[in-house]
Amino acid sequence: MNILLFGPPGSGKGTQSSLLVERLGMKHISTGDLFRSAVKNKTKLGLEAKKYLDQGRLVPDTVTINMVEEVLFDMPKGSFILDGFPRNVSQAEALVGLLGKAKKNLDKALFLEVPTEDLVSRLSGRRTCRSCGAVYHVSGKPLKNGKTCDQCDSSDVYQREDDKPEAIRTRLKVYADSTSPLKDYYQKKGILVEIDGTGREEEVFKRIQSKIKA
Ligand code: AMP
Repeated sequence: MNILLFGPPGSGKGTQSSLLVERLGMKHISTGDLFRSAVKNKTKLGLEAKKYLDQGRLVPDTVTINMVEEVLFDMPKGSFILDGFPRNVSQAEALVGLLGKAKKNLDKALFLEVPTEDLVSRLSGRRTCRSCGAVYHVSGKPLKNGKTCDQCDSSDVYQREDDKPEAIRTRLKVYADSTSPLKDYYQKKGILVEIDGTGREEEVFKRIQSKIKA
């Protein structure tokens, strides 16, 4: 079962992907994580992508599609989750070609639905571990000892540049203009599954799991 998880920024795609990886052993392809790692390592791709990430704008399609192509071809066998790609209809169309070449299928496109007011508070309170990528929230899921990452003990838990107010506004607008049309796109393909993304992580996970099994 290969799935796409999509939804507005802050809808919980990263958190739910981590649970799917941990509990169902799925492979995770997150274009956001790939770009952040390239930025951190100051690769050519990272230097090119940084300004887009910091401002909350989409990295150009050709750059993004080439990156996904490499990952899809290098990926070992087994089920995968696409998280954060595609982000617009032209990327979705490119994905059809990439999957065909890699002889893989996309079985379901899971849309995580969360009201906009919840998204803003989720994003502005979000903190991320720069070392292992674990995600926290200043009030909803604080660090257990208040200082270091619960998972890897790094003290570098920070607020992503794109979780600051101006970038959040841009990301929500980019989502509304470019990504939300994917709902219609996957509905027409007959693989759209809508999931209520509100409530506790575990509740959302159970909803996802039941749809994956169905
Ligand atoms: P995310 O972690 O998925 O919220 O992605 C963080 C940032 O990475 C986005 O705001 C974009 O700048 C960039 N990004 C991630 N995925 C894509 C994509 N499919 N197309 C273009 N830019 C992307």
